Amino acid sequence: MKKIELYNTLERKKQEFKPIISGEVGLYTCGPTVYNFAHIGNLRAYIFEDILKRVLRYNGYKVKHVMNITDVGHLTGDMDMGEDKMEKGSKREGKTAWEVAEFYTEAFMKDIKALNIEEPNIWCKATDYIKEQVIMISMLEEKGYTYVISDGVYFDTSKVKEYNKLSHLKLEDLQEGARVEKNDEKKNPTDFALWKFSYPGGRAFDPSKDKEEEKRQMEWETPWGLGFPGWHLECSAMSAKELGKQLDIHCGGIDHINVHHTNEIAQSEAASGEKFFNYWMHGAFLNIEGGKKMAKSDDNFLTLENAFLKKGMDPLVYRFATLQTHYRKPMEYSEEGMKNASKGFEHLRNQVRALGEEAGNVNEDFKSKFTDAINDDLNTPQALAVVQEVLKSDMSSNDKLATVFDFDIVLGLGLGELDGENINIESDEMNTELYIEEGLKSIPEDDLKWIREKAPIRNLARKNKDWAESDRLRDQFESRGYIIKDTNKGMEIKKK
Ligand code: AMP
Ligand code: ZN
Repeated sequence: MKKIELYNTLERKKQEFKPIISGEVGLYTCGPTVYNFAHIGNLRAYIFEDILKRVLRYNGYKVKHVMNITDVGHLTGDMDMGEDKMEKGSKREGKTAWEVAEFYTEAFMKDIKALNIEEPNIWCKATDYIKEQVIMISMLEEKGYTYVISDGVYFDTSKVKEYNKLSHLKLEDLQEGARVEKNDEKKNPTDFALWKFSYPGGRAFDPSKDKEEEKRQMEWETPWGLGFPGWHLECSAMSAKELGKQLDIHCGGIDHINVHHTNEIAQSEAASGEKFFNYWMHGAFLNIEGGKKMAKSDDNFLTLENAFLKKGMDPLVYRFATLQTHYRKPMEYSEEGMKNASKGFEHLRNQVRALGEEAGNVNEDFKSKFTDAINDDLNTPQALAVVQEVLKSDMSSNDKLATVFDFDIVLGLGLGELDGENINIESDEMNTELYIEEGLKSIPEDDLKWIREKAPIRNLARKNKDWAESDRLRDQFESRGYIIKDTNKGMEIKKK
């Protein structure tokens, strides 16, 4: 087995990966809060985690992957203040919080499928693990880590020796960050809620004191009072329950380092007395408008639907684009950038199409080079460069194809599922541009010439809403052996 090096936030350096159980990996990745659509920034994090999982498997590991669905307890403020995002979503949409969770969970599943992100072995919904979370609070209470104030049960971070071991920040700086949301009753600014009360003191809803619109939908009775779990507790309880002792790698975006993951570590290690996860990996942000983090709370929020599907662009273009940037480097989104990625991806697909259909043998030298790239802290830009080396080498087409298919087990770009040959006819405004990529040499020259002439005429007819003419031309294409599909992007022509 080749060595895999991963950047571990805990140690602040690349380290050789060593699993707890030989040949196996326990992987936990923080999942979506299902009160809204995932934005493409969130999806960048899930693509990076998918690559990690594929790299581990490509190296022969059996991976047990657990991902949570946060359907309760994630508040609008990171420091346990503000509103529960699920209840907020419920008010916004006039649906119950449960319905909101179901709707956005489904939307999330669709997004990851469109991006070839493999599902985890185990999905865990926070509301299905209330019992485990309550047990964890009891354990912490017994060991003296908790205290109760008017709005919930809190974890006392001053009782933990190395509270800052993940963030590597000075304790004063962490506390300063935590002061943003003021709560005078907390003993230390960094203390966080394990259990939040629905109403002050943990009592039930009282119409004489509480407003009807403040009535909570998701709440459970506990020894401390009626309420709901804190967001950090969910991941601690669910990872312990599903992975047991196999706490190898835990991932998320870099925004999780200072609060969410720091608190997960504090409470889990306090409860178990053992190390909680050996490797912590974090993906950098997708930025927009010149370095601004894409966030759900801002109006710069783009979904896969509006940034890709509605524009007639294949969502895999986004996967391809993210692989061109190392996961620990910030990535800037722009429409122009995605158009270029789209052209680059189409070019790659056509290069692969041109290799024909018969796969030969995987070239071991290139495989070794590719593995060196991905095993070096998931260096996907370098891995894509090796793909190009293969394509430009003097190997036979059959062997090139086999080698690229093998690499695609990690890249997940669907290169093994290309159907037919594609010619994209892009049309913008009055101009009609025929855009033919390399790799279409097997289309007879005569046909290409004919397509170049006819395609702009048909595009113009469609633009002028001359449906009779456009249908007539479609028939001509058909009888020459080409099928036309009209997309938002323009016309797509495939060989029959
Ligand atoms: P959330 O649904 O807010 O809990 O976020 C889901 C995942 O997306 C987490 O791993 C976050 O760290 C990550 N994330 C949030 N915003 C961005 C962004 N702009 N770029 C990359 N990852 C992000
Ligand atoms: Zn988490």
